[in-house]
Amino acid sequence: MTGFGRLRLDGVGRRFGTADALADLDLTIERGEFIALLGPSGCGKSTALNCLAGLLPLTAGSIWQDDQRIDTLPPEKRGFGMVFQNYALFPHLTVRDNIAFGLRMRRLPKDEVRRRADAAIEMVRLEEHASKLPGQLSGGQQQRVAIARATVLEPSLVLMDEPLSNLDAKLRLEMRTEIRRLHQSLGLTTVYVTHDQEEALSMADRLVVMRLGRVQQIGTPEQVHTKPATWHVADFMGYRNLLPLVANRVDGDAVTVPLGGTTVNGVAQGSISSGDEVVAAVRPEDVRLGNEDVTGLKGRVEVVEYQGRELAVEVALDGGVRLHARTDRQVVAGDNVSVTVTPGRLLVYPSESSADVPVAELAPAGLAV
Ligand code: ATP
Repeated sequence: MTGFGRLRLDGVGRRFGTADALADLDLTIERGEFIALLGPSGCGKSTALNCLAGLLPLTAGSIWQDDQRIDTLPPEKRGFGMVFQNYALFPHLTVRDNIAFGLRMRRLPKDEVRRRADAAIEMVRLEEHASKLPGQLSGGQQQRVAIARATVLEPSLVLMDEPLSNLDAKLRLEMRTEIRRLHQSLGLTTVYVTHDQEEALSMADRLVVMRLGRVQQIGTPEQVHTKPATWHVADFMGYRNLLPLVANRVDGDAVTVPLGGTTVNGVAQGSISSGDEVVAAVRPEDVRLGNEDVTGLKGRVEVVEYQGRELAVEVALDGGVRLHARTDRQVVAGDNVSVTVTPGRLLVYPSESSADVPVAELAPAGLAV
């Protein structure tokens, strides 16, 4: 194995014409880490992965494997394994031969090829299917072959680009666990591209959240989930309530904002002064419904969706602002309710970065502001 201690991307950029598909990417990947590149379609994830793989030349910056510069090397000299969403298996070769292909290309002795291919087949649990052709396998089994083929060469880094996006929901869940298991048991270093925040949160050691070709935040799942760096990251991480408001009182990181005819307390996520335009972000799980007679925000239930143990509710506050909430109470549309925001969970961001976004995106629920 061409092992490394760390891989460093230094100011990596890729421009197409005059547009930056990727800009100023600084990232250090430690050996053994599972990194997810996460963000909406077109944010530059695949561009970053292809730059790492050597499939796309950089237009700025450099990539270092310990103290060796590698962005000038062709893909085959980097020794990375790759798994893409379209499995790209050889249709005329059996599972075993697909997996052994790279080993044979390296002209390894026959018994070593057999031994390593067998171990890889066992690792992805395809022993019973080893003699089949890819066309005789399910999507999940084919993706397992692709993973075995990419890892059998014991690459120093495995790059995966939305490898589960062609699979159905149940299989996707199973394969998540499978990939994480392989990552751990083979001691791989993995960079995994996805637009699915749950997938990224559940699999990765660290997430790189991107937007418009730039990194918005790098952090552990917990950091990105509980303390998104910008309201864009919050938006992407399930903070469905994004409210353009004006800050009232500011005391350290305690900010009050006007809502539903009263004021609520939030936590400043950046430098905010009284009178500033802000974006307040809160998850539906942190907006709870209570009896109408409880003091606090008042509202009226507008839409109710059954979601298993709880109901997902849209509630219009006095004054018109709509919030997505959750409740285990049996409410129906038209009920008058009180609304409580979990203390500490309303995050208040400076709104400068909202300038490039239409209000429609700020207020997905047709928010009246
Ligand atoms: P998706 O999840 O949809 O694959 P992504 O985050 O992987 O999106 P990229 O494929 O990296 O995004 O694309 C980033 C930006 O660069 C997009 O605006 C895209 O249109 C542009 N882009 C990518 N490849 C090229 C190319 N070969 N020529 C011109 N523009 C490109």
